[in-house]
Amino acid sequence: MGSANSCIATEKTAVVMGGSIAGMLTAQVLTKHFDRVIIVERDLLKEAAEQTEQRPGVPQSFHAHALLMRGQQILEYLFPGIVTELADSDASVINWTADCLWLSIRGWVPRFDSQLITRTCSRNLLEWTIRKRLTANERVEWRSATQVTGLLTNQVSVTGVRIRTANEPEVEIFADVVVDATGRNSRTPHWLQAMGYEPPQETVVNSFLGYASRWYEIPADLQKDWNAVYITTQAPGTRGGVIYQVEGNRWIITLVGVGRDYPPTDEAGFLEFARSLRSPIIYETIKKIQPLSPIYAYKRTENCLHHYEKLSRFPENFLVVGDAVCSFNPVYGQGMTTAALGAMTLDECLSQQGNLIGLSRRFQKQLNKVISVPWMIATGEDFRWSTTEGGQTSLINKLMQKYLEQVLMLQSQSPEVHQLFLEVMHMQKQPRAFFHPRILMQVLKQIFTSQGQGENLTNGESLATSLPAVVE
Ligand SMILES: Cc1cc2nc3c(=O)[nH]c(=O)nc-3n(C[C@H](O)[C@H](O)[C@H](O)COP(=O)(O)OP(=O)(O)OC[C@H]3O[C@@H](n4cnc5c(N)ncnc54)[C@H](O)[C@@H]3O)c2cc1C
Repeated sequence: MGSANSCIATEKTAVVMGGSIAGMLTAQVLTKHFDRVIIVERDLLKEAAEQTEQRPGVPQSFHAHALLMRGQQILEYLFPGIVTELADSDASVINWTADCLWLSIRGWVPRFDSQLITRTCSRNLLEWTIRKRLTANERVEWRSATQVTGLLTNQVSVTGVRIRTANEPEVEIFADVVVDATGRNSRTPHWLQAMGYEPPQETVVNSFLGYASRWYEIPADLQKDWNAVYITTQAPGTRGGVIYQVEGNRWIITLVGVGRDYPPTDEAGFLEFARSLRSPIIYETIKKIQPLSPIYAYKRTENCLHHYEKLSRFPENFLVVGDAVCSFNPVYGQGMTTAALGAMTLDECLSQQGNLIGLSRRFQKQLNKVISVPWMIATGEDFRWSTTEGGQTSLINKLMQKYLEQVLMLQSQSPEVHQLFLEVMHMQKQPRAFFHPRILMQVLKQIFTSQGQGENLTNGESLATSLPAVVE
């Protein structure tokens, strides 16, 4: 963990391109090591009263956005007290084993109490709460409604950025370090080429998953003992859905379809898609409640990893973070937490050395190690569908996938397995925990008693039985 204002000399400036989650968490870390951190954000960032307004740079904010437990812990470390601030802004509390109805491969999983507790809220509230805290940091300067149009370089290092605000002429900002946090559409591969460097190779794994989301008011008189519903998508079936509670007494209901089985955005089609899920609960819920928004679609969900860690030449004083390095199929909820882990990795790298020489390459290599686990989880899951394209899966990964299928089949019978599954999903534990002897024994027992065959349900076939109650 870095100590405040560690070894790097004073009067140093860092520029962060992009003021979304990865950019803001990175900026907060940089304020421990640099005197001045300038965040350049293309969107116009509005004042507090308009915090619920969507902005063009993050079209994903229309959709359910879960911050995993590991991500929430890092957020609280970087901004002490922020989880309480989210609670004060009406973010709901969710105990993931007790308050969430989870339809697994073989049915509803048992509900029970645990310490897997987070706050759920809209992406906008989360972003706005972080921005408020960051803005209070006197080392931070925002350049909102300002676009980075290029990098400044002396051929060895990146020395700053070129920016443009509205119709004004371009301006240059010089900096000791420049960070790219501009997301999936990052221009860095193009900029590197223009500077005479090789662009990074990229690995793309695409399950052609689409989202359709709509916001609803939660009826005041509704009787329910849960805060979220997850109807997971199980190959070869292609459909799933989520009910996700956010501030202001609202639900975001998101339907997902894999293999180009995109959920429709017209009223009747959306309802029909919900009716075809493995449980009627989302369909029955939607029928009774009042929509607050149109239906929003999102289809750019491919996993895309840029291999900056493999480049033999990379400019000094330049870093790439967040979705600009690796974007995931969002259905596994890993993007913001991986961005938070990336910020912590940068903190460690900066704290370990007294100057910036070699930082860029060392950081990208370290970041790649951090990304490798969520990447393996997301792509491993996506390879369950024969329609998934790109990348390669090794024999080890295929065997691991078969083993995990057996683990997932135990989820509805074993609270221990379900809790472990959620702990891995929330990045509290590594996937190797699935090989603990106690879990291994349960898997072997299942295989040898021939219970390990999947139900092979397709869309429209309902596995649902009565909903589980919480067991004390
Ligand atoms: C549909 C969907 C659902 C998701 N759900 C989840 C979830 O449940 N949980 C989760 O953890 N993650 C989720 N994610 C992923 C999550 O949104 C991202 O991982 C997270 O926002 C971090 O991204 P980022 O900050 O790197 O980039 P982004 O959030 O994409 O932000 C990039 C920023 O850079 C700015 N920018 C771009 N170009 C320039 C430029 N030239 N100059 C200045 N500024 C620029 C943009 O305006 C934007 O603000 C989801 C993503 C999608 C698409």
